[in-house]
Amino acid sequence: MKFCFKSIFFLICCASILVSCNTKKEVTLIGKKKSAIKTKNIILLVGDGMGLSQVSASQFYHNSKSNFERFPVIGLIKTSSASELITDSASSSTAFASGIKTYNGALGVNTDTLAVKNIVEEVSNIGISTGIISTSSITHATPAAFYTHTKKRSMAEDIASQLVNSEIDFFAGGGSDYFNNRDDNRDLILELEEKNFIINLNSLPTEMKIDFSKKQGYLLAPKGLPKMLEGRGTFLSDATTLALEYLSNNENGFFLMIEGAQIDWGGHDNDADYLISELIDFDNTIGAVLDFAESNKETLVIVTADHETGGFTLGQDNGNYNKIKPVFSTTGHSATMVPVFASGPGAGLFGSIYENTAIYDKMKFLFFKNNKN
Ligand code: MG
Ligand code: ZN
Repeated sequence: MKFCFKSIFFLICCASILVSCNTKKEVTLIGKKKSAIKTKNIILLVGDGMGLSQVSASQFYHNSKSNFERFPVIGLIKTSSASELITDSASSSTAFASGIKTYNGALGVNTDTLAVKNIVEEVSNIGISTGIISTSSITHATPAAFYTHTKKRSMAEDIASQLVNSEIDFFAGGGSDYFNNRDDNRDLILELEEKNFIINLNSLPTEMKIDFSKKQGYLLAPKGLPKMLEGRGTFLSDATTLALEYLSNNENGFFLMIEGAQIDWGGHDNDADYLISELIDFDNTIGAVLDFAESNKETLVIVTADHETGGFTLGQDNGNYNKIKPVFSTTGHSATMVPVFASGPGAGLFGSIYENTAIYDKMKFLFFKNNKN
């Protein structure tokens, strides 16, 4: 009897050792498999004001297949700020850039108005190149959160002066007025050139001859860029292609934020044609980014929004279920959750429902997981 218990105990011990060995082996294997493809580059595309109805417009109003359908992973984010249930673009962009909830209007500062590090500053420390592109002024809330620490988003001249001393390697957008037509008469274009930038105030280059020893800046309008409906053309996808060409030269990797700013402005105006034309431009830019990422293999692409604008819906027209009538329920932002689309190495982290600050947490985890030095 005694012997029997002993042998059963022995057998159980053997079995559990075997099981634990096996489990360990599996964990290591899975670990290896996961880290085999590294997340070298991250491209974050922000559709300002882009809720699910805005995304759905790409199904019905785009003459080619929606690029949103190319993503294998989809999640949802909660966007409320520290001060209000309904966020503005400043606090939500600070959530993406710095991983904190702050008050509406704040850029790169916390609720005590103290500066908080952003991802551009952090990844620059490990040799990663960075870029920002927007169809608004480059000093506007969404891009500004990635290089500025400012109490109020309205302080555009102050924001512009902080771009000069930032770690940004490539920028393209509007807003030249805040650089060379300022109240304090400083010429920030000159100051940027002294910081090793080539600045162009007229157009994107027509030929791809890149001087990789210089940083690049494009300020192609006094304030925001023109609407798509007013002939902006392919600025957003062209600037994106240029940035990818430039930034991918860095073997350490890059971080690029691309904003479709005026989806939000169409929402505020309750102008469906304006909104949809901007959304389709953004969709085309996503297509260019996914083409790059699919050939590059080490690039994670994330598409999300800072909040929804306009309470936009694709409703029916007078009882006719075969005709869509876009309608709005507000001229402001709304509290609805907004979608996150992810593709590439690390995309698996972006499913489910989480706070907007987690976008920063996940990006930082992926960048630093591969750069432990
Ligand atoms: Mg914006
Ligand atoms: Zn807005």
